[in-house]
Amino acid sequence: MIQLFMPLNVLGFVYREIRQALVDIERMFGLLGEEAGVRDRPGAAELEPDGGAVAFNDVGFAYHPERRILEGVSFTIPAGAKVALVGPSGAGKSTVARLLFRFYDVTSGAITVNGQDIRDVSQSSLRAAIGVVPQDTVLFNDTIYYNVAYGRPDATEAEVRRAIHLADLDDFVARLPDGLDTVVGERGLKVSGGEKQRIAIARVLLKDPPILVLDEATSSLDSASEQAILGALNTVARQRSTLAIAHRLSTIMDADRIVVLDQGRVVEQGDHQELLAANGVYAALWHQQQSLAAVDDETLP
Ligand code: ATP
Repeated sequence: MIQLFMPLNVLGFVYREIRQALVDIERMFGLLGEEAGVRDRPGAAELEPDGGAVAFNDVGFAYHPERRILEGVSFTIPAGAKVALVGPSGAGKSTVARLLFRFYDVTSGAITVNGQDIRDVSQSSLRAAIGVVPQDTVLFNDTIYYNVAYGRPDATEAEVRRAIHLADLDDFVARLPDGLDTVVGERGLKVSGGEKQRIAIARVLLKDPPILVLDEATSSLDSASEQAILGALNTVARQRSTLAIAHRLSTIMDADRIVVLDQGRVVEQGDHQELLAANGVYAALWHQQQSLAAVDDETLP
């Protein structure tokens, strides 16, 4: 009810914030057009994320009752730590991220943020605490400035410029015909996948949420762009509780913890060295990707 009495500009701001978060999240997980299945509990509390520690406690999940997708999934992301999810296609990595956003409720077990069950808090407060860097960010047909400031529309110009700098976009902006006033998007200047990803990073830096979800696939980029993005991703992940969905293992070697999913179950977890020493699923994936990379190098001119 309180919202009914908010000034219109505040309502507009809240609406834009939520819509943007949803556009990026939905795009990231291929959920565009899907009906939101969950509702706030009456009198739902606001999330108090603090450092954004996340815990999955014995989580089971099925999109349809006859087919379990996740079974007994338990792991934690301590406040400020980086946890990478790896595993073969279809293992359930994106599903884990969707559950953290509470696009669906768990079928069994619980997910908590800073000790609060995410079913007990409002979805707006949950999503305000999470930033996402998808592979393919939606850009509006508007200026670069607007597209970055969208992360926090009340940001000052100095804050927007700082986010652009930290996201390693200075050179990109310097090359644009009208600098920050250049219009981008479908009907404006086209920007590359890597530049879009860095714009998403700048948005998250402005929004400054305690939790970050990254889709770390950078395979479509050349290695110079990949290095630039990895640097910017490290900047944005610093001091945030980060869940990185990893496709290429070389990008997550530095994670505090790597959780290996296979057919919806956690089959291993540990850091890179521990998992290599365990000589299990992760080590096999690692050696496989190393030998593919070696073949790639040999075929380069
Ligand atoms: P990838 O690496 O290929 O992106 P993933 O590990 O992220 O895969 P998920 O996308 O989480 O895997 O999918 C896990 C399983 O859930 C798959 O078998 C998939 O077919 C199924 N699945 C995903 N989304 C839905 C949905 N909306 N409805 C029904 N089943 C789904």
